[in-house]
Amino acid sequence: MNIEPRIAAWHEELTRIRRDIHAHPELGFEEERTSAIVARELREYGCEVTTGIAKTGVVGTIRVGNSPRAVGLRADMDCLPMQEMNSFAHASKFKGRMHGCGHDGHTTMLLGAAKYLAETRNFQGTVHLIFQPAEEGQGGGRVMVEEGLFEKFPCDAIFAMHNWPVLEAGKFQIRPGPMLAGGMRFDITVKGRGTHGAKPETGIDPVITAAHIATAAQSIVSRTMSPHEPVVLSVTQIHAGDAYNVIPETAVLRGTIRCFSEQAREQVRATFTRIAHEMAGAFGAEAIVDIKDGYPPLVNDEKEAGFLADVATEIVGAENVERNGPRIMGSEDFSYMLQAVPGAFVMLGQGGGTSGSGHTSCEVHNPGYDFNDDVLPLGATLFARLVEKKLSTEAAA
Ligand SMILES: [Zn+2]
Ligand SMILES: [Zn+2]
Repeated sequence: MNIEPRIAAWHEELTRIRRDIHAHPELGFEEERTSAIVARELREYGCEVTTGIAKTGVVGTIRVGNSPRAVGLRADMDCLPMQEMNSFAHASKFKGRMHGCGHDGHTTMLLGAAKYLAETRNFQGTVHLIFQPAEEGQGGGRVMVEEGLFEKFPCDAIFAMHNWPVLEAGKFQIRPGPMLAGGMRFDITVKGRGTHGAKPETGIDPVITAAHIATAAQSIVSRTMSPHEPVVLSVTQIHAGDAYNVIPETAVLRGTIRCFSEQAREQVRATFTRIAHEMAGAFGAEAIVDIKDGYPPLVNDEKEAGFLADVATEIVGAENVERNGPRIMGSEDFSYMLQAVPGAFVMLGQGGGTSGSGHTSCEVHNPGYDFNDDVLPLGATLFARLVEKKLSTEAAA
């Protein structure tokens, strides 16, 4: 493996930073301590530092020469509202807060790349190191874009990575085009007419109506979408009634929808809305449909995904880079940045054994999860090489 020796020499220091952030996890838009560490480190390395973007977001900038070319690298800093079950020394010090998605590792890898790039300056142009808040559900990436991230820090291309426990450490997985799903969540309120449970003929039953809507919704994916267009529609909650002998006034259905294109998203939204209204109407009830957008699908630029795969191949070899990896039904708010600037998102393997702390690898969002410190130098090397290749001194000459 072709790890940058300078970065490999910082492995211990990077591990210390990663575990310190892991022990002090902070929720979305509350990453005060973490962003203070990031800003302090970046200043120490000699970067220009801008704080307070999307509340706790930080951007570090390194300029070499006067080439107008610029690359953005992004990491996320927030933790999850969940209880950590690990007992190692760097386990979360806070109840109900945990770095269960490895954003502590993403932040540390980007710091490693920043230190390397600031010291070696082996490129021509500008690199913006983007540390974003609130990836887990609150759309910190969207807020940064809305607050003018790319007007203040224009980038020709942007890159980010996510650790991936189901992929062996030392491997990368990417795909051109749509890679992670876009999401929507829905609330459907069925309004009937409450009555005595023994006299259904005097009311309109929202429970039976909701059950029919839930069943009919399952035909949306199987009967109205192309089999080549992956979509998931899950009803995850049905709430109605409080008594054995009362037919309630209302019933509520909730759940999630995942798909890979804006067109699929609009198609599912329209079909589900129609089914809910007309199914309710068939029973004499009424449906109030509220389908809210989550993150958009994450779409890798074909050229930049190929470029990233080429750079990864130089580091770990072709046999360790899956260029046409599977689509993933999870979502990521880096998708908002990719809507603004072409770029690519890659999965960094961190599984297949024990992590740096001797901890057995498990899935992200699991209470026993830990980022694998073994891959810190690899992720930092990939970030650094992306900049050196994109802004190569040869190309500028
Ligand atoms: Zn997550
Ligand atoms: Zn994550």
